[in-house]
Amino acid sequence: MWLALSAGLAAVAYSAALTPFRADLVYLLLTLSAVTLGARLFVRAGWGARVPLSDAFVVFALLQVGAGQAVVLAALAALCAPARCGRGMRGAIFDAGAASSATLLCALALRSVFGESAATLAQTPPTTFVPALFVVALFLTAAHALGHAFAGGFASDGPEGERGLFDRVASTFAGCFAVAAGAGFLASLVPAAGFDTVVASAACAAILFSVTRLRVETAGAATTPAPAEGGRRAERASEDAGGGMFREAFEGAAAGMALVSAKGKFLQVNRALLDVLGYEEQALVAKTFQDVAHADDLAPALSGFKRLLGASESSHECEMRLRRASGEDVWVLLSAARAGGRKSSARLVFQVQDITERKRSEEQLLHDAFHDPLTKLPNRALFIDHVKLTIARAKRRPGHLFAVLFLDLDRFKIVNDSLGHMFGDQLLVGIARRLEGCLREGDTVARVGGDEFTILLEDIEDEIEAISVAERIQKELSAPFHIGGHEVFTTVSIGIAPSSTDYDDPEDILRDADTAMYRAKSLGKARHEVFDKAMHALAVNLLQLETDLRRALERKEFFVHYQPIVALSDFRLCGFEALVRWQHPERGLISPMDFIPVAEDTGQIIAIGEWTLMEACRQMRRWQKQYPSDVPLYISVNLSGKQFTQPNLIERVRTIVEKTKLDPRSLKLEITESVVMENIETATEMLKDLRALGVQLSIDDFGTGYSSLSYLHRFPIDTLKIDRSFVTRMVENNENSEIVRTIVMLAQTLGMDVVAEGVETKEQLALLRKLGCESGQGYYFSRPATVNGAEQLIAATSASVQRALNMSKARPAPEADDKVKTMKFVNHEEAAGVEQQSTPAA
Ligand code: C2E
Ligand code: CA
Ligand code: CA
Repeated sequence: MWLALSAGLAAVAYSAALTPFRADLVYLLLTLSAVTLGARLFVRAGWGARVPLSDAFVVFALLQVGAGQAVVLAALAALCAPARCGRGMRGAIFDAGAASSATLLCALALRSVFGESAATLAQTPPTTFVPALFVVALFLTAAHALGHAFAGGFASDGPEGERGLFDRVASTFAGCFAVAAGAGFLASLVPAAGFDTVVASAACAAILFSVTRLRVETAGAATTPAPAEGGRRAERASEDAGGGMFREAFEGAAAGMALVSAKGKFLQVNRALLDVLGYEEQALVAKTFQDVAHADDLAPALSGFKRLLGASESSHECEMRLRRASGEDVWVLLSAARAGGRKSSARLVFQVQDITERKRSEEQLLHDAFHDPLTKLPNRALFIDHVKLTIARAKRRPGHLFAVLFLDLDRFKIVNDSLGHMFGDQLLVGIARRLEGCLREGDTVARVGGDEFTILLEDIEDEIEAISVAERIQKELSAPFHIGGHEVFTTVSIGIAPSSTDYDDPEDILRDADTAMYRAKSLGKARHEVFDKAMHALAVNLLQLETDLRRALERKEFFVHYQPIVALSDFRLCGFEALVRWQHPERGLISPMDFIPVAEDTGQIIAIGEWTLMEACRQMRRWQKQYPSDVPLYISVNLSGKQFTQPNLIERVRTIVEKTKLDPRSLKLEITESVVMENIETATEMLKDLRALGVQLSIDDFGTGYSSLSYLHRFPIDTLKIDRSFVTRMVENNENSEIVRTIVMLAQTLGMDVVAEGVETKEQLALLRKLGCESGQGYYFSRPATVNGAEQLIAATSASVQRALNMSKARPAPEADDKVKTMKFVNHEEAAGVEQQSTPAA
């Protein structure tokens, strides 16, 4: 490059010293014609040789104006050529250097051989002039050969390449000689016609030639000027493919087409293919198929071609990527067929269709099928697939350890319901990004459910490593998220299933990680647990429970116990809380603490809850009729979270109340504080509708949840039930008694009454009375009792209350110690049908 550039500059400088420049209008016309038209028109000779018509202008200038002018013209014409032939600026500079130095050498050679300046040669006799043109043609050929060599165009390839070098040089020479002869002819006309006339007519002829695309068709290797952009080696197409019609079809085909040598060289390409690949023709025919094929797709394509050429197949089709001139990949459907008979001269005809768009949408579809649209993480299907591969790898390489982590966000539902779904979505995306940040390359994180994520840790040393990843995740997620001006804190419960247990099915390890996650949740959330065999036993046990639970209703294995609720001021029996019991045929009595959560998970709680509600209402109605009193007893029934969010809850409660004919005011529904707060949106509506039925409402386990006072006063609540944990620790811990005092005061402010749960001792009772708590419930008064047991209590108290009321005219309200008189039933040892076993406390 640099050599050519300096040679060119030297040539221009030296030639300028040889002959003075002319700068008149005619010379300008000559130059313009040379760089524009001359560079667009070619004289063609066989085997791909093309000589630009600008050479004729250069020779003409050499013979008519002088070496200096000719050298500059040669350099300019070559410089202006690149836009046309796609060789780029480097090629153009090289060509310009080669052309200008060749022109200068040519002028010097003419002077030394013929002893005259080139500018006077046109007037010498033919015996001198023709050999002089011969010399000129030699120098032009040399310049072109150099240029081609630079572009790699003379590289030998295939049957064509083998005979190519000599033929090409020869035909280039023929073209150059024709050009030189033409220019010489024009130069010889100058003395007769005048310089201006000759230049003007030559320029006109060239313009006409170009504009009308005049074409001289010749057979074989005759000079065939053709417009450059139509220059697809027209004569070769007719040679190779047998006729103009085929050529037309080839050229005009909508699909990309190419004729390719057995070694992969592009011999002929059509416009559509150039468009697909973004190359200019000359640039593409200088390349091979191997150059433009994507490295990953090359081998299968080449073996297909090999079979084609070996005639074992007649056509080959494949989808593959080709590399565009710009460097990007394009997906194509390539159909190849063999052309030509003998193996040595066989070629391939390619038909190339751009299928990038289709591929892209296929890839998109595939991606969508395996990814979560919100977080862009892999979904469950893809995760399972990864685990499957990892299990297979672990089987091949014993000692290869991995682990699956199952993550579940704690209290995501609260965030989602209170701040909105958009907000929840953003939080999930933020969490997804942080999780990705916690992992190494090769590990997989997926979103497998609303707020559930799974992680596959590959190649871990031991269990400890999985645990430390879980700790890292918990630490990362503990930093607040900033979303829409809010600062949100979230925690996550993680179950870890190490691969040490021998797994075959990816679902199994996922299930175990899930089991461990549940364990982490039940142990207080925001922590991690590693799966072990005991957990598995527990899970199996749970599964059995689920199955048994399904049949329990129809087998009538449920019944209801009733625990009295007592007014603390006068120990009057106010009502009962209905507590469901399950008499399992093999396992005996099962606590609701054990089966209600299972029934919640499986949805069976709806049926069980409805049955309990019906049963309790019917029973209360019976008692009310049997033991009428001024202030009727009420029945308090628990509503689970699932029941509460049931859309037709109001309908169902109304139906039950109507069927049992219980006054709705005698029914109190207990809803835990957390259930209400987790469903704030729907809760308010639901509570109002229930209230409209005439039913009373009670917030159960009050003090354990996250009650927001701003909501509390909006809810139509009648009763707060202080959680028994506060009552239990009230006497020895002043703080707890303060909490009870606060709740009582709060209830008074909001116009609600308070029931204290879990009253077990005299001291607790005394303190509760002192704090002004209205009602109490607990073992101190009575354990939950059977229907008969409860009925005896009603019978006894209705009589004793009657007596007490009579007496109260004479004495003040009873003190705690006097309760025996009014609450005869507290001697629960005696009370028939009262639960004797200790109820498991939460
Ligand atoms: P809960 O609603 O807080 O019910 C009170 C629980 O405390 C009952 O346990 C009761 O036996 C127990 N208890 C009562 N007094 C005392 C006491 O002085 N000391 C102690 N340590 N415990 C006392 P149970 O019957 O085992 O019920 C447990 C939980 O199961 C209930 O808690 C409630 O959440 C749920 N549950 C019970 N029956 C039903 C039902 O029919 N439907 C629904 N959805 N849940 C129910
Ligand atoms: Ca309750
Ligand atoms: Ca409770």
